[in-house]
This record gives sequence, C-alpha cells and structure tokens, in this order.
Amino acid sequence: MEIVIDDPRLRPIREKVESGQRLSYEDGVTLYRTSDILSVGYMANLVRERLHGQVTYFNVNRHINPTDVCVASCRLCAFGKRAKDPKAYTMSLEEVWYRAGEGWSEAVTEFHIVGGLHPELTLDWYCEMLRGLKTRFPQVHLKAFTMVEVAYLAQRGKVSVREVLERLRDAGMDSLPGGGAEIFCDRVRRIICDHKITGEQWIETARIAHSLGLHSNCTMLYGHIENAEDRADHLVKRRGLQDQTGGFVTFIPLAFHPIAQIALLFGADDLDGTVVEEKIYYDAGATTSQSLRRRELLQLIRKAGREPVERDTLYRPVTRTDTAFTVLV
Ligand code: SF4
Repeated sequence: MEIVIDDPRLRPIREKVESGQRLSYEDGVTLYRTSDILSVGYMANLVRERLHGQVTYFNVNRHINPTDVCVASCRLCAFGKRAKDPKAYTMSLEEVWYRAGEGWSEAVTEFHIVGGLHPELTLDWYCEMLRGLKTRFPQVHLKAFTMVEVAYLAQRGKVSVREVLERLRDAGMDSLPGGGAEIFCDRVRRIICDHKITGEQWIETARIAHSLGLHSNCTMLYGHIENAEDRADHLVKRRGLQDQTGGFVTFIPLAFHPIAQIALLFGADDLDGTVVEEKIYYDAGATTSQSLRRRELLQLIRKAGREPVERDTLYRPVTRTDTAFTVLV
C-alpha cells in the first residue's frame, strides 16, 4: 500500500520508518499531534508487517481478581473499593483456586491475576495462593501482580521490592502483567492516581523483575488528561528500559480495546486473551459482555484480514487438539 502523506511534518518521520531508523521523542509528539491519521496508520502498519507479517496474536487465558478492596483511590478506577464498602469482596484461597478451575475446559495457558491493594492480605497469603495454583494447574503460566501491587507488598511488609519479587517468583509467579503504568509523567499521576507509586518507581520495579528473569508487559492508559508530550515521554521511557533489560514482552495501550479491528490495520498485532472473566473493565462501565470466546476472537482477526496465531504468555505458538495443547518452543 502506497499513500500520500498530507502532513509535511510527517515526511521525515516516514523516511525514518521506511529505512528502519528509530523515532525520537519529538517524532512521537508530532505523530500524536497530527490529524493525518491515515499516514500514521500506514507507518505503524509498515513496521508491524515488517516485524510480524499478517500474524495477529491472541492468548487463551483466564482473569482472576482475588480482591477489589484497595487502600488507594485512583480517580480513574471504578474497580477498587474501601474494605467497609458492602459491595467489596475478597476471595478466600479456596475460592481463588476454585475460580481458577472454572473454564478449565478451554485449556487456558495463562492465569492473569491482579487485584486491589488490600490492607490485610500478606505476602505469605499471595505466595500460598500461587503455590496452590501451581500445584493444581502446573502447566498454566501465572502472570500476576501489577508493579503497584508488588511495591505495596514491599512497603507493607517492610521488605525490599527485590525480596517480594523473589518470593513471589519462588512461589510460582512466572511473569507480571505490567499494569499500573498509566502515564509515567508525575504531573498526570498526581491527578489520576496520586496514591500509586511514581512512574520512576514503576520502572525501577520492572527493572528489578526483569533482572530476576521475570518478563512483564507494560501498559499505557491514554485518552484522559494526558497530552501528546506525556504519551511520547511514556513510550520513550518504556523503550529505554527495554533497551537495557529486554524484559517487556508486549506493550498494551489501554484505550485500544473498543477499536480492536481497526487497530489491527494501524500497527496492532495482538488482541490479548479470551478473558473469560475480567472485572476491572466491567466495573469501569463496560457494557459489552465480559467474555470473548476463542471462536469469536478467531473470527474477529480473520475479518480484519489478519492471520490468528494463538500464543502463550511468552509468545510461543500454541497448537491445539480437542483435548490437549502444546507449546511450540
Ligand atoms: S487503579 Fe489499582 S491501585 Fe488504583 S484504586 Fe484501582 S485497584 Fe486501587
């Protein structure tokens, strides 16, 4: 596909993209500011097809949110609740393990586990939860805890972030989902999530996780009060850590879900998982069904003209029969 670039500011960026050069922070700001959205899509798609061809990844996973009790009160969050809120819930360990077993017929390859910052659940409790999951579902990858939860466990337990991560890893945590990154810029964080760790602390926690052999994702929550500079800054910081550790497996722009098929033609190459139960978006007012079945995901990707490839958490292709699945390494 060859297109005419309308915005002259994009022409040098296009040259860089076509010749495989890195974009700068200033390039990022320009891309966010332009109204020439088709040119941006063209360039993003060029890189995406260079890296992945027609392949679009997805993952059969199951979300578990052990508690929505949270001591923080981030302004953009409709999930976290005060402990005394009658609608708040906290699962017992047995309930977590039971919930994990529901939907097992879909042969999930990953449990995605995040929750609120509970004032009483201890590091020992979470380690027990992980051990119980590993014992019951040894072949399932445990992707658990945002950097914010990890830092909170360290603060509450008066131990280092490294120790928390080591203990969680030793109990069965395989990787981290990378949530809570929001926008790294302090000015924005002070308004949308002032009880959370700073952007720098988020990056430092991720750095330690990566140094311990744990991969993670990195999110960016956009479309609220942040500006083009904040977004570009977020991406450059994330890329900087990736250059040093190589520990991020994917980047997740969080306002991306409602426009998924269009996004597949604008640079996106992954549609997350089948998400059998996910309370965070639902509590935030999503009116669509909480679950997206494997068959629906396949259809959605094919209708966008892409080729679906089921993956595990670390992006190894999964082949499936009716009764079993194998990860190709
Ligand atoms: S975003 Fe996370 S830390 Fe903030 S209130 Fe919600 S659950 Fe708590």
